[in-house]
Amino acid sequence: MGCARWRELLSTQLDGEDAPGEREAAQRHLTSCDTCRRWYDDAAAITRRARMTLVRDSVDVTEGVLAALAAGPRRHRWWGLRALR
Ligand SMILES: [Zn+2]
Repeated sequence: MGCARWRELLSTQLDGEDAPGEREAAQRHLTSCDTCRRWYDDAAAITRRARMTLVRDSVDVTEGVLAALAAGPRRHRWWGLRALR
């Protein structure tokens, strides 16, 4: 198998979508291929950075959802429908 195919497997590993058997084989390739090892280190760093950016920039809607649940069902929509009848 060529390095391009190993890198595809390593990429799926970084995404957490690899099969268990593929993981060990890909890790063995990394121990014998400096080029793929460097590629993998760079790809892992980029993946970590992207995940941290997503976490940092994500909007926490917890308080809004809890407040809506505490307020109970929104009955005014039903009142509006009744008014149309
Ligand atoms: Zn390689």
